[in-house]
Amino acid sequence: MSNTLNWKDLVLPHILSLQAYSSARDEFSGDAKVFLDANENPFDEEQQSWNRYPDPLQKDIKHQLSEIKEISTKNIFLGNGSDEAIDLLFRVFCKGGESNIITCPPTYGMYKVSASIHNVENIEVSLTEDYQLDVDAILEAANSHSKMLFICSPNNPTGNSIRKDDIQNLLENFNGVVIIDEAYIDFSAQKSWIHTLENHSNLVILQTLSKAWGLASARLGMSFANPELIKILNKVKPPYNISGPSQKLVSDSLTKKDAFDKQVKEILAERDKLNQELQDIPGVKKVYATDANFILVKINDAKSIYQKLIEKGIVVRDRSNIKLCDNCLRIAVGTEKENENLIAALHQITT
Ligand SMILES: *Cc1c(COP(=O)(O)O)cnc(C)c1O
Repeated sequence: MSNTLNWKDLVLPHILSLQAYSSARDEFSGDAKVFLDANENPFDEEQQSWNRYPDPLQKDIKHQLSEIKEISTKNIFLGNGSDEAIDLLFRVFCKGGESNIITCPPTYGMYKVSASIHNVENIEVSLTEDYQLDVDAILEAANSHSKMLFICSPNNPTGNSIRKDDIQNLLENFNGVVIIDEAYIDFSAQKSWIHTLENHSNLVILQTLSKAWGLASARLGMSFANPELIKILNKVKPPYNISGPSQKLVSDSLTKKDAFDKQVKEILAERDKLNQELQDIPGVKKVYATDANFILVKINDAKSIYQKLIEKGIVVRDRSNIKLCDNCLRIAVGTEKENENLIAALHQITT
């Protein structure tokens, strides 16, 4: 069963009719040796073409990603981090002072911030005690102004994946765009939703090179959606949103898939070890099961432990102030040595 909703009706009219900026290089096609169309400096000292504007549609990277992700390049949008895609989705679908979105805390903080920036109401429907979606409450909270629903799976900061049936249910029954943020999918035992795109025109999947791929500095976020929506995102984005140096770095890194696989494997092995060792720390109440490269831990006096770790030069994330995360710390999996230091420090602090 698929949603009877026509996602295009959700696009703001001025965005549908928007005429995109046409760059010098957009208007040229064919072979040329002399480029006098974009007012660039003609000298190319490093022979890297840094003097030239970069490819606005990042075709090389999209071809590489198309093979890695087994999806057509037409389904791929690239942004300056996932954060740019989130911002663009607000611009495309939400009218300030009128539209609203639904988020399910505790979750990634950027959805809420972006909603505030666009003067869009953020309706919060808490996760259940076991950090799953409250599907009935979400559908009840939704109204005719609800344009987007953000689902983070595996969820940050809790680490668990969201139940497949619940997401399926919402894809079919929520009358808006469903955005599944899969920033941690490469660490997950669950499959990506990428291969269900054909069945759901109202689905957008966010992934990033910032986590498993080790390229947080390159700022490269991927969105996967139906080709018409991809075209709209391309129309709304700044023309040269991914810099040339970034495109080159990313393109080189994507050829090293074996090294990537090896690192992910190592991180997962370290995660399982860390998970075991954390259970033996005095005062630890719960080590949550995780599908990501971080672990949520409930521990007595989380705040003071957080401070004492800092005194030992180790920074984790204090999540103890947020809903359903009482006395919780979020700990990213580091190298073997870093994890050993963390465990030793925790033993010193708690005994
Ligand atoms: C880290 C993270 C991102 C990454 O955002 P980028 O802008 O691509 O670096 C996105 N979503 C979630 C849930 C994250 O935790």
